Amino acid sequence: MLRENLPDLADLELVATVAEKAVGVKQLLRDVARDYAPVVFANSLGAEDMVLTDMIWGEDLGIDIFSLDTGRLPAETYELMARAERRYGRRMEVFAPRHDSVQEFVATHGINGFYDSVEARKACCHTRKIEPLQRALAGKQAWITGLRAAQSPTRDKLKTVAFDHANKLVKISPLADWSEREVWVYLRANNVPYNALHDRGYPSIGCAPCTRAIQPGEDVRAGRWWWESADTKECGLHRRPDGTFVRASAEANLGDAEVKAPSGAGRSQNEETKECGLHLVDGELVRAPKVGADGTAEAA
Ligand code: SF4
Repeated sequence: MLRENLPDLADLELVATVAEKAVGVKQLLRDVARDYAPVVFANSLGAEDMVLTDMIWGEDLGIDIFSLDTGRLPAETYELMARAERRYGRRMEVFAPRHDSVQEFVATHGINGFYDSVEARKACCHTRKIEPLQRALAGKQAWITGLRAAQSPTRDKLKTVAFDHANKLVKISPLADWSEREVWVYLRANNVPYNALHDRGYPSIGCAPCTRAIQPGEDVRAGRWWWESADTKECGLHRRPDGTFVRASAEANLGDAEVKAPSGAGRSQNEETKECGLHLVDGELVRAPKVGADGTAEAA
């Protein structure tokens, strides 16, 4: 969020709304930790991720946190990682790319070869993000992300709990129904550390060479892979059920298999999200689905 648009903490109604939603998210996270173990939080150190970091570490919820160090992150992101670890007295697990894969990419495409073609950029993202993510998620039942529906033009597709076909495990987005303003109210009201680049016009932050500041009125993700057309932009970390990548601007478009939620999953959600993504059966505890040999979710 641009500095001039930061929400005013004097808006007591908004602050109270966020506090109430935060109570629901924390309960959801407790339920997830109990019902979906082993579960991990993939922390990209964005604003939303710092909200979840504050809840998970601040409340000692017993959920492991990892982050992907692509080797090309901005200095401000590394500084935030260190600051967060000092603040909460915890250490997040950091996954780096395989050195032989990076060397192979650089030998083939050059140190900044990702600018030269979409294919080269995808290869770089695969080496530095996708393969490390797959290692980080190995053996897990579920992963937690900071995705929000409002980040995506296909917001109705985002579910708080969904089956991630690409990675073959449950994907949980506790902030699915949060607005950007609500995220920033939480950060400010709770004095949560955040990336210094947010104050310099970077609403979305990835690798340093692939991220720039945006101008007022631009889409919040206009600063990511700005040299590519919208049709080729891909995050690479979030894929549709058919295996195709999701455009960067539509990062929140998740797998569409509906998964029964843990018992507290509806507490922070609006009605629209409840209808499309959650199934609560008389408050009964519902387990994560088993994964079939073909990678699809079996009925619970
Ligand atoms: S965002 Fe850029 S530097 Fe980072 S992995 Fe993708 S192409 Fe490589």
